[in-house]
Amino acid sequence: MVARHNRNPFTRNANTVKLARSRRRGRRTVEDAQNQGVRHSTYLTRLLRSSGDRRWADGSRGSGSGARDPALGIGARVPGLGIRGLDWKLELDTDVSSHFDVAIVGAGPAGSWAAYRLAEAGARVALLDASHPREKPCGGGVTGRAFQLVASAVEALDLPVVSVRTASFAAAGRAAGVSFSSEERAAVTLGVVGRQVFDGALLAAAARIGAVHRAMRVTAIERTASMWTVSAVSERVTCDWLIGADGATSLVRRRVASPFPRSELSVATGYFVRDVSSNEIAIDFDGVPTGYVWSFPRADHLAVGACGQADTVSAPSLLAHTRAWIGRHVKDGGNLQRYSWPIPSLTESALRAECPAGDRWMLLGDAAGLVDPITREGIYFALLSAEHAAASLRGHSPDVEYVQRLRDTIYDELIRAAQLKARFFRPELLALLVRALNRSAHVREIMADLVAGRQTYAGLRRRLLGTLEWGLMFELLRL
Ligand SMILES: Cc1cc2nc3c(=O)[nH]c(=O)nc-3n(C[C@H](O)[C@H](O)[C@H](O)COP(=O)(O)OP(=O)(O)OC[C@H]3O[C@@H](n4cnc5c(N)ncnc54)[C@H](O)[C@@H]3O)c2cc1C
Repeated sequence: MVARHNRNPFTRNANTVKLARSRRRGRRTVEDAQNQGVRHSTYLTRLLRSSGDRRWADGSRGSGSGARDPALGIGARVPGLGIRGLDWKLELDTDVSSHFDVAIVGAGPAGSWAAYRLAEAGARVALLDASHPREKPCGGGVTGRAFQLVASAVEALDLPVVSVRTASFAAAGRAAGVSFSSEERAAVTLGVVGRQVFDGALLAAAARIGAVHRAMRVTAIERTASMWTVSAVSERVTCDWLIGADGATSLVRRRVASPFPRSELSVATGYFVRDVSSNEIAIDFDGVPTGYVWSFPRADHLAVGACGQADTVSAPSLLAHTRAWIGRHVKDGGNLQRYSWPIPSLTESALRAECPAGDRWMLLGDAAGLVDPITREGIYFALLSAEHAAASLRGHSPDVEYVQRLRDTIYDELIRAAQLKARFFRPELLALLVRALNRSAHVREIMADLVAGRQTYAGLRRRLLGTLEWGLMFELLRL
């Protein structure tokens, strides 16, 4: 039986503050070693410090060999530890930085942003991900609200972001265009950026502010009464709190809950089309049940792909459809690089049943199913969940608070999207939508706001009612 130990990493007693200081000393030592090109795990640590009251965060007294010192690596056998009131020099063959307040598996937007916020608040954070630098399979559409969340660390305009000027929507053989005003474009209402660049910038910001990035592909997770042990093939860390930000196929999720069934996933697959760009996004609903084809322009290529619910479409059929779409719409679109990855696209009942936190663990972003099941926007929700995780970890019951915050700000919105989804992808409604877009400036405004993440599903019906597009409203009200 695992003891409940849900204290947050920020509200500990004075002894813990001493520990935090000594940890910081330890980290500086390791950083020095890193600067000299020495690996953490092989570094022979030399600590020179003054021993005062040797009581640890768990209240135990450190005396004699085997003292539990989180600053030195939990469970390290340390001869001579606990000699009170003496200045002592310690040389040990262990990793000073192997215990953390929080270990985060996965350095995508969710993991890196949580690491940034936690390190900024003074927590000792490990960010575990061996994949960087890498391009994640993604459209790379980042909404203005997502850029705003990270503006204190990453300036959108400093990145090679394509600021989208127009969006075209096609259904039933017709197309309609929506444009973003130049005022909106100045603030990047909707940008497209490669994930190597965007995720790399977030990871760099987290490392700059003090999070410790380890290039670990986590293969095993164990827990004891008071801590987690997170292991890769040749390395491991321990931590008080474990955060799973390891995406749609999350190992942490599989360890603390259960993986997403196929019915709760979308297949998303397509091609990066090299040496072609644009400043228009294209969305085409024709021929893809419960999904669409997209073309998102990056600085030096297009990300073109198609998504659909995994239990209704297959990856090969989507890929063939995408290829045919490129053939029809992209001039000189010959240099293709394939990508494919699942997207959580939860149904209403699954969203209601989700529990993204428990005893000293939290799931963020895709690992918690936080993707709009219609648009498949996930980056904003990943970042927002990171904000909530970091804020909740400062409270008295972090897991309870985190679940509540997600319910209030994300799950309720995703539930509305899931309710709308069944109707939204009906060919009749999509045809009406394109017709209404061509006819009504109001509908175009609403669509622009929806795509840019400024229009919530909560207020969508009321706003559409105001457009007097009765056909569209009739279809929507049949929900
Ligand atoms: C084809 C496609 C197109 C998409 N287009 C868009 C879009 O245009 N806009 C948008 O907002 N959303 C889009 N999404 C969704 C978006 O990509 C995700 O919602 C978002 O990346 C979630 O961020 P995350 O940090 O939760 O997870 P991820 O970005 O998936 O990051 C998870 C990280 O965890 C690491 N990891 C996994 N397992 C381990 C392990 N065992 N040990 C260590 N590290 C591990 C991975 O290497 C990765 O770096 C798209 C998704 C797909 C598949």
